[in-house]
Amino acid sequence: MRDPFGRDITYLRVSVTDRCDFRCVYCMAEDMTFLPKAEILSLEEMERLCAAFIALGVRKLRITGGEPLVRRDVLRLFERLGSRLGNGLDELTLTTNGSQLARFASPLHEAGVRRINVSLDTLRAETFTAITRWGRIERTLDGIFAAKAAGIAIKINMVALKEVNEHEIDAMLAWCGEHGFDLCLIETMPLGEIEGDRTAQYLPLSLVRARLRRNWTLTASDYRTGGPARYYDVGETGQKLGFITPLTHNFCESCNRVRLTCTGTLYMCLGQEDAADLRAVLRREESDEALHAAILAAIARKPKGHDFVIDREHRRPALARHMSVTGG
Ligand code: SAM
Ligand code: SF4
Repeated sequence: MRDPFGRDITYLRVSVTDRCDFRCVYCMAEDMTFLPKAEILSLEEMERLCAAFIALGVRKLRITGGEPLVRRDVLRLFERLGSRLGNGLDELTLTTNGSQLARFASPLHEAGVRRINVSLDTLRAETFTAITRWGRIERTLDGIFAAKAAGIAIKINMVALKEVNEHEIDAMLAWCGEHGFDLCLIETMPLGEIEGDRTAQYLPLSLVRARLRRNWTLTASDYRTGGPARYYDVGETGQKLGFITPLTHNFCESCNRVRLTCTGTLYMCLGQEDAADLRAVLRREESDEALHAAILAAIARKPKGHDFVIDREHRRPALARHMSVTGG
């Protein structure tokens, strides 16, 4: 699958649910309304769609959400997709808040998952609950260590929030080094209506990087995932440190990914509204031919780059849909 700008599309992120057991302040409102069940693809439908993408050249799948591990029977999907590893698929991975990871870590490893991203914005119990509203840090930490014990490599995702956790970033980098985890810092993105003022949370990562350089030796690395992260090697720990600055255009030209929502809508770019309704094709057509054609037609519309802007004057998100819908 090659898009009009010559980029090979080899990476699909799949949101398996819009639901979550947390209500992170930058991601959701506390009283979120979720989609009716009938609109959500069954696990079988998701598998069929993923198989179509793999047949067309996708080599890496990331399961995300919402919180993917709160979807009932989600392990079955991991097992089915895991059976395709080495057979078209190179990597099956997951982004999770870690709350359910303690019980899922071993079965995920058995299904073929070797690397995961776990979101952890702070190491302080109180701050954790303040950010996630409903979460408890012990469960996420238990999940992280269960995954480590199961032999899964871990990257910690930390959203950098002005005043909330900005003074904890050194401590997080040290903690990650101690336990052998990579760390990825994320700038807040203007996605979805939430309560509160987004511009008040915004912390530019250029500033964070400059501050970190006072204490750490950061060497720019060639490591790329095709996403918007720029990586550095951390001299003192030997781990990687990534910076995801979605509001900059740095890496759109090498973007290799598309995103599928839990309702079967394909977004060709996280920062654009254009989308393709694959559920309609999936439910209408028995043959995979029409599905393949619909996917290829969508890829042919992949835009060159995104147009994120924070509407500072009206304090509105640039895009109304939440991150939990498109999948982070
Ligand atoms: N629930 C899982 C989790 O938290 O890891 C997976 C889905 S979550 C939407 C994926 C990632 O997106 C998380 O690392 C989260 O911190 C990040 N995220 C959510 N809303 C965001 C926003 N408005 N700006 C930046 N990152 C955001
Ligand atoms: Fe849930 Fe992840 Fe969004 Fe937090 S960031 S509310 S854990 S989907």
